[in-house]
Amino acid sequence: MSHKFAGGCDHVHTHSDKDPIDNHTCHCSVCKSVTGQDTTHVVFFKHGDLGVDESDNLNRQPFNAKNPDGPLELCTCATCGTPIMLDDKENRIRAIVPNLMGYQPDSLPATYHAFYDPATGAAAPNDGRPVYEGLRPDFVWPKPS
Ligand SMILES: [Zn+2]
Ligand SMILES: [Zn+2]
Repeated sequence: MSHKFAGGCDHVHTHSDKDPIDNHTCHCSVCKSVTGQDTTHVVFFKHGDLGVDESDNLNRQPFNAKNPDGPLELCTCATCGTPIMLDDKENRIRAIVPNLMGYQPDSLPATYHAFYDPATGAAAPNDGRPVYEGLRPDFVWPKPS
């Protein structure tokens, strides 16, 4: 079975046959601390659109260590520790960081910059894509699946 998008590690596989619902370059501090990258390419799929095989082989931890009751959990492979996805306890979305989670970043280009905060001192993005202080204003969280 081939899928439109597929990733994961040698032990846990994720896939989607649907297009993502949001695709951004994230400037937030949580992504920075989790990924160690200055910016993080984040892709949101509707929760029901991103399938996970071997889901029993995932360890789950709060995505934001400072907000352990927050809705997002970072799921990592229990065998090798590879980050697999961010799962939403409210079943609205599943998020993928393509370059860390086994996806081809070029196949999922980010359309804008999210959570850019000039107060951090980071240079403003100047690649022509829109820059927002949060998610794009017209983003609507999907209904739980
Ligand atoms: Zn972020
Ligand atoms: Zn693994």
